[in-house]
Amino acid sequence: MQTFSELDLIEPLQRAVEAQGYTKPTPVQAQAIPLLLAGRDVLACAQTGTGKTAAFTLPVLQHIQTRRSGRTGRRPIRALVLTPTRELAAQIGESIAGYGQHLQIPHTVIFGGVKQGAQVRAIERGVAILVATPGRLLDLMGQGIVDLRDVEFFVLDEADRMLDMGFINDVRRVLRDLPSKRQNLLFSATMPESIIQLAGSFLDNPARVEVTPNATTVEKIQQSVMFCARAQKRFLLASLIRSLGVESAIVFTRTKHGASRLVKQLEQVGISSAAIHGNKSQNARTRALDGFRSGEIRILVATDIASRGIDVDGVSHVFNFDLPNEPESYVHRIGRTARAGKGGVAVAFCDETEGAFLRDIEHLIGMSIEVNEDHEWHDAASVPPPGRGGGGGGGSRGGGRPKQTTVRRPEGLGNRTSDGQRRRRG
Ligand code: AMP
Repeated sequence: MQTFSELDLIEPLQRAVEAQGYTKPTPVQAQAIPLLLAGRDVLACAQTGTGKTAAFTLPVLQHIQTRRSGRTGRRPIRALVLTPTRELAAQIGESIAGYGQHLQIPHTVIFGGVKQGAQVRAIERGVAILVATPGRLLDLMGQGIVDLRDVEFFVLDEADRMLDMGFINDVRRVLRDLPSKRQNLLFSATMPESIIQLAGSFLDNPARVEVTPNATTVEKIQQSVMFCARAQKRFLLASLIRSLGVESAIVFTRTKHGASRLVKQLEQVGISSAAIHGNKSQNARTRALDGFRSGEIRILVATDIASRGIDVDGVSHVFNFDLPNEPESYVHRIGRTARAGKGGVAVAFCDETEGAFLRDIEHLIGMSIEVNEDHEWHDAASVPPPGRGGGGGGGSRGGGRPKQTTVRRPEGLGNRTSDGQRRRRG
């Protein structure tokens, strides 16, 4: 499938897609859209950046536009999209508005952290598509404001992150309120056993969609690791921001507190930045994100949850100031650069306590990350003992066994060899 016109999308959607300037569907779109238009349930393994939002938004819009609702006399919620974070919810809302620009399909987005009044009014005016985060949705269901009895199309977006964030029971509660006859779609960046189980509990004979490993995305990212003592990391970062000609960068820290502290430290050396994390008000997050998008703020310091799915083009650098303790997060983080097929640079800092995290990451991605010692803060004490990484599950640190990861190698991340083995490098 090479062009959008081969996808059987109705004309107003074709026009909207053309207006976005897309010339051909991405692999996940080419696979998922025909299945969804044919009414199938779909289990899709695809991460942010693959075009997954359009892969479900376009079929949802077409479904609403072309099929009559069984109800007359009122305007029921016909499609529900559940997503873990406010930012993702807002982005999906924007996609629906964009792709649905030639259709009159009312939709709205609800999430926590802001007053509910405006959201309630939007729902009471009648929406066909509701995009929601779980907490606010359950809240409004409990108040009798949201009624899911007529949902025909249910999308669970970023299911793995939903589970990571502890939303599994919320998701199950929402599922209990949906009518049994409906079309379902589950998107997840990774497919651990817990996701397969969840999928099995509500998808009906789903078609599997997996994006074929796309070497262009992550292989275009130039990755390196620098060993540096914890206390020196901020100096290393400031020096790199200056010397690398960073245009726009996201810096990841493990904690909210660490993000706020780093912003202050960068300010002290004359680098302006903003933090985005769960303790910030929705307004502060929106302001930071808008400033970053417009180029006013060059450096965004973020925690994983807050950054999840942030869709900003032209991020030149990603810094892993702290290595994530979940190796999958590394992949999500560096995927913030190299959007829309562009290249990017990802630099990881590894201190004396993080050797095991580095090993897990290299195990997951199946390759060693190039070490850059060419800086004045290089700290030999932070270098994990020989045998680290290499993807094969060899070098474990401190006698710990290499983690038996049930997570498949994320799509879009380099090539597997033809027999599915992880590739070793170096
Ligand atoms: P997503 O994976 O949904 O977060 O989308 C990632 C980015 O790809 C977004 O900026 C989309 O606007 C863009 N995108 C989606 N579909 C296409 C396409 N067919 N061609 C080019 N860019 C696309």
